[in-house]
Amino acid sequence: MTAKSKKLQGQVAIVTGASSGIGAGVAKALAADGASVVVNYSSSPDKAEEVLESIKQEGGEGFIYKADVSQEADVKQMFRETISRYGTVDILVNNAGLQRDAKFHEMSLEQWNHVIGINLTGQFLCAREAVQEFIRRGIVPERSASAGKIICMSSVHEVIPWAGHANYAASKGGVMMLMKTIAQEYAPLKIRVNSIGPGAIRTPINYAAWQTPQAYEQLLKLIPAKRIGEAEDIGKAAVWLASDDAEYVNGITLFVDGGMLLYPGFEDNG
Ligand code: NAD
Repeated sequence: MTAKSKKLQGQVAIVTGASSGIGAGVAKALAADGASVVVNYSSSPDKAEEVLESIKQEGGEGFIYKADVSQEADVKQMFRETISRYGTVDILVNNAGLQRDAKFHEMSLEQWNHVIGINLTGQFLCAREAVQEFIRRGIVPERSASAGKIICMSSVHEVIPWAGHANYAASKGGVMMLMKTIAQEYAPLKIRVNSIGPGAIRTPINYAAWQTPQAYEQLLKLIPAKRIGEAEDIGKAAVWLASDDAEYVNGITLFVDGGMLLYPGFEDNG
């Protein structure tokens, strides 16, 4: 790709939870399209370094930064550090997330709070810092037609209920309304906020769903496209949503799910 054809040239992106899975794929894709990328991690510096190394090998730019997205002070410091190094932030990918599964009647308050704290409050804390910076800087037409872009990593479970995962499904339902509300509130300032709703993507979070041929076969019953998604599938969607090609796209969830939302149980006529 020539520098001129890179859609995110000269822009700065923070990707949370970028040491693994979807976040790593998104960080690499944004960097390949010209963005300088902050590879945020919470617990695995070695994996974050690997992601950064791979970005640099492809001619990209970035640095790794340890921050727990559920901690206000960590998040503020991550934005301060990014702005002091690169001058601003153009793109936030609110990706960090986890599961702590339990039958609902056995779910502890700790399991509930842990998931909500990272998956929902973490997105709030990062988005608030990003919006403050976008407002401060305003539009710089040479960089982007928007004052800033936020991509929230949601899930098909912002709409599909998920037994045994009430905390996770509630967090993603919350992300949907957080995303739409911020999008509505700041659209007049040309700040764009959208979500990606992945289906089943091959990452450590759902290892059990694809690790054995039997599990994989079961999983494919839920996916009309008959293949699991890869982090690269999400990376491509993130580049598009962050770029000016999506300038008029605001407040949507782009489902990247191989058709998982198409009621696959009806495939053979119900
Ligand atoms: P993953 O476990 O590989 O990655 C999650 C990342 O979040 C890890 O890097 C982890 O270290 C990081 N993280 C966890 N807690 C953190 C914290 N407090 N602060 C900062 N980082 C933290 O899983 P993944 O599948 O890549 O998940 C990424 C996102 O995609 C999550 O929000 C998840 O809910 C969403 N998602 C995944 C799938 C899927 O099928 N893999 C489907 C739908 C949605």
